[in-house]
Amino acid sequence: MSKGIISKDEDYSQWFNDLVIKADLAEYAPVRGCMIIKPYGYSIWEKMQAALDKMFKDTGHSNAYFPLFIPKSFFSKEASHVDGFAKECAVVTHYRLKNDGEGNIIVDEDAKLEEELIVRPTSETIIWHTYKGWIQSYRDLPLLINQWANVVRWEMRTRLFLRTTEFLWQEGHTAHATAQEAVAETEQMLEVYADFVENWMGVPVVKGRKTANERFAGALDTYCIEALMQDGKALQAGTSHFLGQNFAKAFDVKFTTKEGTLEHVWATSWGVSTRLMGALIMTHSDDAGLVLPPKLAPIQVVAVPIYKHDEELENIRTYIKGLSAELRAKGISIKFDDRDTQRPGFKFAEYELKGVPLRIAIGSRDMQNGTVELARRDTRTKETVTQDGLANHIEQLLEDIQTNIYQKAFKFREENTTEVDTYDEFKRLLDEKPGFLSAHWDGTPETEQRIKDETKATIRCIPLNNKQEEGKCILTGNPSTQRVLFARAY
Ligand code: AMP
Repeated sequence: MSKGIISKDEDYSQWFNDLVIKADLAEYAPVRGCMIIKPYGYSIWEKMQAALDKMFKDTGHSNAYFPLFIPKSFFSKEASHVDGFAKECAVVTHYRLKNDGEGNIIVDEDAKLEEELIVRPTSETIIWHTYKGWIQSYRDLPLLINQWANVVRWEMRTRLFLRTTEFLWQEGHTAHATAQEAVAETEQMLEVYADFVENWMGVPVVKGRKTANERFAGALDTYCIEALMQDGKALQAGTSHFLGQNFAKAFDVKFTTKEGTLEHVWATSWGVSTRLMGALIMTHSDDAGLVLPPKLAPIQVVAVPIYKHDEELENIRTYIKGLSAELRAKGISIKFDDRDTQRPGFKFAEYELKGVPLRIAIGSRDMQNGTVELARRDTRTKETVTQDGLANHIEQLLEDIQTNIYQKAFKFREENTTEVDTYDEFKRLLDEKPGFLSAHWDGTPETEQRIKDETKATIRCIPLNNKQEEGKCILTGNPSTQRVLFARAY
C-alpha cells in the first residue's frame, strides 16, 4: 500500500475506488449511485469530449439538445424499448413541495402532474417524436445529430464512473433513407469509437456485435467495442445500434422517396459515456496511481525545481520559461510547480498519483551541467538528458509513452485471451485466469443464459470478421460455426 491506495493485486476493486478518490478524479455524492466529478477528473473528460466531438463533426454530425424529461406516453410507444428500460426509470410525479404546517417539507399532492415524466435514460423517444416534424422528404435525409447530455438509469449495483445512476454521455441519433445507409452509419460510428479508444485512450478493443440477449432495447442489431481490464474482467466501452424502422414506425416518421412513394425512415443511435473514464483508469494505472495517456493528460509535463536559495530558483524559472514556450509551440502543456510549501519528494509522489506522463526535475547542478532529469510515469524510469533539443526529446517521449501504454495493454489482452473447448476448462479458467474466453456456442439464447447463470460469464460479442470454423458448443455439444468471446464483465 502506498499513498493510501491498496495494491491492485490485493483488492482490485478497492484499488480502483481508492485511486479515483485519492487522485482527485471524483467522490461519492450524497445520492446513492451518483458521483461528483472533481476538476481534475472533469478536465480529462473535457479532453475526451473535445476529441470525440471533432471526430463526430468530421463525419458530418451536428450537435443539438433535447429535453431531460420525456412524457410517459412517448416512452410507451416502442414496446421492446419500454420493456428494456422500465426497470430503471426515475419518474417525476409532482411539481411542488409544501410546508405541512409543522415545519416539515412534504410533496404537495395537489401538484400532481397530469402526465408523469420520465427522466431520460436515453433519448430515442423524444428525438423521434421531434424528427416527425423535421423529416418529410428524401431531401431531409440523412439527418445526423449528436447530443451531449446527462442521463439517469436507476442502477442497482453502482460503481464510480463504470456504472452510475446519473452519467454523462453523448448520444448520436441519425435518420436515413435506406437500411444499407443506416447500417453503414452504425458501422462507421463503431469505427470512430474504436479509433478514439485505441488511439487517444491507448485502450485496445475488440469490435463486435451483441447477441440478441444483450442487444439494446429496441435495436435490430447492437455493435460494441469491448475492452479487457487488468483484473481480467471485460468492459463494454461503447455501443452503436442499428434501430431499423422501429422508432420511425412508433413515431410515424415517414418520408417521400425520389420516386414519390412514402416510406418509414431508418435509424441508428450510438453512445459512449463517463464509463470511458473508468476504462482509462482501470487499463493503465498501477499501485503508485494513475497512468494517463499523453493525449488526454490535463498536464503532460511537470517541472519540479530543486533548490536551496531563491537565486537558484530564479535561474531555474528563467530556463523553464524558455522551455515552456518551446513546448507550448508544439501544443504540449507544462506545469512549473514552484510551490515552496511542499518538498520535491512530495511533489514527485503527487504527480505520480495523478498520472502526469513526464516529470522534469531540475536542480542547480543540472543548471551548471546543462542537463535535466526526466522521469517517465509509464515505465517509472529516469534519465539525465542534455538541455539541448529538450523540447524535441520531450515531444518524442510523449509519443513513445502513448504507444507504449497501448502496446502494454494489447499484450495483456493477448495473454489473457484463451481458446477453450470444454466447459470444465471454461469454468476453471474463469476462476484461475480470468480474461476473454473464445469458445463455441450453439447460437441459442437459452444456452447463453444457462452459461451466464452458472458462471456469471456473458457473451461480450461476436467479433467482426470472425473466423468461421466447425466446432461444438461448450455447454450442449451442439454444432457451432464460430467462436464467440465470453468474459465476466463490469
Ligand atoms: P446503451 O445506451 O445502453 O447502449 O449505452 C450507451 C453507453 O453508455 C455504453 O457505452 C455503455 O457502456 C454506457 N453506459 C450504460 N449504462 C451506464 C451507466 N450506468 N453508467 C455509465 N455508463 C453507462
